[in-house]
Amino acid sequence: MLRLGMVGGGQGAYIGNIHRLASRLDGQWQLVAGAFDVDPERGRAFAISQGLDPARSYGTYAELIAGEAGREDRVDAVAICTPNFTHYPIAKALIEAGFDVICEKPLTATLEDAVALEKLARESGRFVGVTYTYSGYPMVHEARVRVARGELGAIRTVQVEYPLEWMATAIEQSGNAQAAWRTDPKKNGRGGSIGDIGTHAYHLAGFVTGLTLESLTADLATFVGGRALDDNAHVMMRYQGGARGLLWSSQVAIGNSNGVRLRVFGEKGSLQWFQEQPNELVFTPLDGRVQIIKRGADDLSEDARLRIRTPPGHPEGYLEAFANLYAGFAEAIRARQEGREPSLLGQNLPLAYDGLKGVAFVEAVVDSHEAEGQPWLTPVAV
Ligand code: NAD
Repeated sequence: MLRLGMVGGGQGAYIGNIHRLASRLDGQWQLVAGAFDVDPERGRAFAISQGLDPARSYGTYAELIAGEAGREDRVDAVAICTPNFTHYPIAKALIEAGFDVICEKPLTATLEDAVALEKLARESGRFVGVTYTYSGYPMVHEARVRVARGELGAIRTVQVEYPLEWMATAIEQSGNAQAAWRTDPKKNGRGGSIGDIGTHAYHLAGFVTGLTLESLTADLATFVGGRALDDNAHVMMRYQGGARGLLWSSQVAIGNSNGVRLRVFGEKGSLQWFQEQPNELVFTPLDGRVQIIKRGADDLSEDARLRIRTPPGHPEGYLEAFANLYAGFAEAIRARQEGREPSLLGQNLPLAYDGLKGVAFVEAVVDSHEAEGQPWLTPVAV
């Protein structure tokens, strides 16, 4: 088993617990160390409540690095589950101390930090995985394979959206911890909805289609009074080769709990995937006969198959998708430790460069919106 450390994700936090559950699912990771909270005492108490050795229940990430660095059974990787502005200093310190990293998205709060972190990852040779959750779903892999095989022909247009409703009122002003830092530009970064969830949508569209962005133009809006960042974003995209894209992210779209939806239209057919029905992929060829491809179907690609755990009809979802990222990271890290190429499970993973692309996308979106006339801009990394 690989040994996992965690920074952030303490009592009352959102994504840390998803990491803990997902990392356990395949028995490949054991959580052995953590600095879980911005408050050191609360973090230590939380670690102990999770059954961790008190000696590995750290108050700060600096203590975790110092404590783990000297151990023979030191952690194999550390997951960073803290607000965006802390990703860079924490990841930098971990990488410089020789640890592999699993970092939450967006990779960093600023483009400068993302560029520096990606460079550090590349030059140090450390593994840096980024948890773009939606690229963990088997049917998203199936969509990627079908596009790559040419089943849709040349891609003409991509529609991707990530609407949420949870910030439709000013919950950041009434004590919601998650909304509070997400609406603070210093802690979140320049892009509100576009940084928080637009980055997922942008990655998903690029992951499935394999298209490279050429330029974008954007229109941001802040509908909730007193909010400092966008809570709704529309982005028009031009991809290299001529395909077009439209991306919508919203935190105020009432009726949407987690409405991630991708539609890809090519010259021979189209594909649709909706994360609230994640076990199905809808394929429509030119003759108009709609096919619902179910998770577990006999003719699924190997890429999808090896990310499935239960038989058809027994639904899988969010935790399994997240677990697929952890399984992939485990395979990639083991392969590096053993000096071999990773198997298919450890390939096509979101890595530091994908994280940098997300932050560069946000930067270009906000720049385009803020500039007079919303010009077409090319992000520094595509
Ligand atoms: P949260 O506010 O719920 O939790 C943050 C946690 O980090 C808290 O426990 C806090 O005490 C701790 N923390 C803050 N600074 C720390 C420090 N310096 N050292 C140790 N602990 C520290 O936040 P969240 O909603 O869980 O989001 C955390 C990150 O996860 C963000 O980057 C967010 O964008 C990302 N996220 C990703 C997904 C996904 O689908 N992959 C979903 C939600 C959130």
